Amino acid sequence: MQKHLTGLSQAELSQFVGSLSEPSYRARQLFQGIHERRLPTFDEMTDLPKELRAKLTEHAVVSTLRLESRYLSTDGTRRYLFKTNDNLPVETVFIPEERRDTICFSSQSGCPLQCTFCLTAQLGLLRNLTAGEIVEQIIFALNDAYGVGVKTPRGTNLVGMGAGEPFLNFDELMKAIRILKEPGGLHIVPNRVTVSTAGIVPRIRELATTADRPHLAISLAAPNDELRNELMPINKKWPIDELMSACREFEKSLKRNERFTFEYVMLDGVNDSDEHARQLANLINRHQLHAKVNLIPHNPAEPLPYQPSSVERVESFRQILEAKGVHAFVRRPRGRDILAACGQLAARSTPLVAEART
Ligand code: SF4
Repeated sequence: MQKHLTGLSQAELSQFVGSLSEPSYRARQLFQGIHERRLPTFDEMTDLPKELRAKLTEHAVVSTLRLESRYLSTDGTRRYLFKTNDNLPVETVFIPEERRDTICFSSQSGCPLQCTFCLTAQLGLLRNLTAGEIVEQIIFALNDAYGVGVKTPRGTNLVGMGAGEPFLNFDELMKAIRILKEPGGLHIVPNRVTVSTAGIVPRIRELATTADRPHLAISLAAPNDELRNELMPINKKWPIDELMSACREFEKSLKRNERFTFEYVMLDGVNDSDEHARQLANLINRHQLHAKVNLIPHNPAEPLPYQPSSVERVESFRQILEAKGVHAFVRRPRGRDILAACGQLAARSTPLVAEART
């Protein structure tokens, strides 16, 4: 089987070139070619001798994801639907902003968790993505936005909020994060990465003891067990109090001025009342957490039974949190028209396709 080199660290690449009886400096060149110059094939790595390129093509590949469709939103957001080499869907979203770009990547094809407000849940788990498949999504999005290997004009932030529960694919996720930060490669440091979990408690605790880690966001969606069991069934395994005590442990491991985030999707008439806001603030204060709360108006998608809370409702919810000392922000949805917004990724095509099969 051909080796997927995008998922190898520099040390692993050295071993690999050694197995081809090549000197170890070739590993450095290869790593640069794949990650810094973002070249999708060995043929384009013209600093390598022709014979070596031929040998590499025989034994390895740089990219494995195949672009199936590309959708362009009126707000500039791009959604990519890829297929893996075993034909499973992978989705990535590129969100340009004034000062930085954000790439939302997937950690799994589909997702085993059954959050009722999320379209991805309907796919079930197809499989975990490899570190190489995670890194490849970033390389592809940057090449598509700026051209192959072209220096990006702004910084790049990464969010692990695409399809899948990242903490159920912890080892490959962390490996991808280590590869992404290498100075001779993409050089996107963990401080630029935020990973969102539905609340896999043991991994939150593990992250608390991990050096060089990404920022943490926790999708909460409800302030009490009864409602959260309904909206996010993972809560039955790790109920809110257990989740909060892991959060407390994580918060203790943060540096001064660092914060983690709760994500709270706002579902009209379901979890958005003044009473829910008071319960949420009390929950956070009772556990002595300093986390901030991002309020995310739900992104409607058929056949999900929910509607987004109104602008006024979201604002009143935010004000109650602030009045009780909890910092809260409203997140602006991006790419709704192309089903690229939070909770909308389900490998679907949309009527508003701007470009497909490029
Ligand atoms: S919200 Fe996240 S964890 Fe929940 S089903 Fe969707 S992708 Fe999975």
